[in-house]
Amino acid sequence: MRIPIIAGNWKMHMTPSDAVNLVNELKPLVADTDVEVVVIPPFVDLVDVKKALDGSNIRLGAQNMHWEEKGAFTGEVSPLMLKEIGVEYVVIGHSERRQYFAETDETVNRKVKSALSHGLKPIVCVGETLSQREDGKAFDVVREQTKKALDDVLKNDVTNVVIAYEPIWAIGTGKTATSKDANDVIKVIRETIASIYDINTANEVRIQYGGSVKPDNAKELMSESDIDGALVGGASLKAQDFAKIVNY
Ligand code: PEP
Repeated sequence: MRIPIIAGNWKMHMTPSDAVNLVNELKPLVADTDVEVVVIPPFVDLVDVKKALDGSNIRLGAQNMHWEEKGAFTGEVSPLMLKEIGVEYVVIGHSERRQYFAETDETVNRKVKSALSHGLKPIVCVGETLSQREDGKAFDVVREQTKKALDDVLKNDVTNVVIAYEPIWAIGTGKTATSKDANDVIKVIRETIASIYDINTANEVRIQYGGSVKPDNAKELMSESDIDGALVGGASLKAQDFAKIVNY
């Protein structure tokens, strides 16, 4: 049984005080859920949000990290730093990082391995562009991204990885993949994991859908056989909306 994981990626929104207000509003609204709930604020909010989450069922994630523990990498944040302040999840290879900050499959793979070796659970984003989908290449793209992200990741570790299937054309656009289309791609991701490891291992890995998930489409998406939760952007910035998604 895979426990669904619903994570709110706040992107570059929320000052530390806004962030604390948001989690304080969210805490009682999601206190009774059986799904795993994660909030993913900007780096500068993490310490305050961690304190505000004390005693709650909400877990903490970061939006990115460097693969090195320390060094001359101005502006970067290391896995040791995240671990020490109580971060549990880290998003790796979000399409905005691939698009605007030159993340490649190779840097994604380095970060995934580093996160795992530091006891952080990576949420690895994969997904096709609109033109790749129109050219019928969606399956090939996610297969390739998944293989490269998991290169040299051990079988014992891969069950700590969460994959987020996020078709790029659906992020922040209000367009959502149909639940069947999303499930079909997610099945291909699971088959890819099975081809690297084995089917039992693949069946343990949680694979989320992300891309304009909202209170009114969450239930349909989450009812699909292979969709194990959601990575939510815009709708995670309002406690009421995010809570409705969590309580789908
Ligand atoms: C995201 O940023 O991962 C995302 C899915 O955003 P949105 O929900 O706003 O489409």
